[in-house]
Amino acid sequence: MTRGKMKLVRLRLHLRQRLDGWVEQLGLWMARYRMVITAMQWVVVGIYFALLIIPATLPLPNGVARMTQSLTLIAQFVFWGIWWPGVILATMSVGRLWCGTMCPEGALTEWASRFGRGAPLPAWLKWPGWPTLAFITTTLYGQLISVYDYPRPALLILGGSTLAAIVIGLLYGRGKRIWCRHLCPASGVFHLLTRMAPLYFKVDRQAWDHWQPVQLVGRGEAQLVPINCAPLVDIRRMRSSADCHACGRCAGHRNAVHLALRAPSAEILSATPASVTREEVFTLCLGLLGVATGAFHWSMSPWFVTVKEWCAQWLVSHEWWWALSNDIPWFVLTHFPETNDTFTWLDGAMILFYIAATTLVVGGGTLLASALAARVSDGTPGRWRVQALTLLPLGGVSVIVGLSMTTVTLLRGEGFQLAWINFSRLILLGGAGGWAASLAIRQVWRGRASPLRRALAIPLALAAPALVCSAWYVAFRVW
Ligand code: SF4
Repeated sequence: MTRGKMKLVRLRLHLRQRLDGWVEQLGLWMARYRMVITAMQWVVVGIYFALLIIPATLPLPNGVARMTQSLTLIAQFVFWGIWWPGVILATMSVGRLWCGTMCPEGALTEWASRFGRGAPLPAWLKWPGWPTLAFITTTLYGQLISVYDYPRPALLILGGSTLAAIVIGLLYGRGKRIWCRHLCPASGVFHLLTRMAPLYFKVDRQAWDHWQPVQLVGRGEAQLVPINCAPLVDIRRMRSSADCHACGRCAGHRNAVHLALRAPSAEILSATPASVTREEVFTLCLGLLGVATGAFHWSMSPWFVTVKEWCAQWLVSHEWWWALSNDIPWFVLTHFPETNDTFTWLDGAMILFYIAATTLVVGGGTLLASALAARVSDGTPGRWRVQALTLLPLGGVSVIVGLSMTTVTLLRGEGFQLAWINFSRLILLGGAGGWAASLAIRQVWRGRASPLRRALAIPLALAAPALVCSAWYVAFRVW
């Protein structure tokens, strides 16, 4: 190695050590200054309630209103245009820091559980499918009542979830986040996305087991302060960042827990059938890539309009007028006559049908392609889950791109043209697709089958990211 190269390697090592040191200090800072984090949580709770409740009490803005004239539009932009895409992006980059340091529901359920009944958890509550089911049902219901567009549906869905979080806090656990761990509709998604975050709390098991109290001069033995891990993580055995809310409380504990950096693909590539659950894969393929994609697509799809018109003609010819009636309460189907926005029973049925069809094609297709690739390249039971996990980058970026549609609609209403946006979205999706494809190939190539079988499995593995990218390509380039 030449002298210049050696200098470069030394410089990189030095910079990496410095960066690791700063990150570790940040984690210790979080443990030391809990008060700051707690104060921040309550400020977010205040802002959340203000944006959720006040717009629901105001009249709806007219079609020409601007954000500067309407708190309702500001709340809509903040919630769906910035807040949600920001939370998804943050979870993908810094782990569940949102859950542990800012989430209003997490703060409220933990706070409520300090004063509640403190009952042990019943068996039904521990069913691992709740977050997946809750995510899918709230997404569907949100589409039926237009949660992104109106403040009352937002209050019903988000406020209802917050109320349920408080009630669960009052009933179960003591100073814990039972709601977040077992029931929160978003926790299944965060649980997945945090697996590709480069920042995480790392546990050194050896250091943990061999930790000894230190004799401090003049102050006796150092005390081991017990850690209250609100989402009930077994910190000593924690190997995945999926359940950790990154609250920082355990940073420095036993000199074994530290905030650390890792490669974004590290946890995906080190996954084993035992470390990836069926529920996680269903949340990814059927929830994020299926239901969520269908929910983002239906309102821009000409196919949706064509099928709906055909159905409407059929209903008229058979005189099934009730199916075309729109006199339905707003909490069942969208009903805001003041903005000329009312859904008929046919609209509701068509939305459900369209999302179900997208879930079947995109979600089912990715599941099938991953399962076949795993079967051909390896054959170990449960290997399909590991293969499907490689779609994570696309899962996260799909949701960010989908939510950006609300951001863009609102910004266009303010006069911003954003002509470059579709191209940027496709670049983003292409990048995520490329990342997912490289992960898929690497997982296939690690299989135990012969090189020929592994080579045959590669096109199958690539079919899954290609399917997701094609769905978005059609949405942004064909429609
Ligand atoms: S393991 Fe628990 S206490 Fe430690 S950072 Fe994660 S959520 Fe907080």
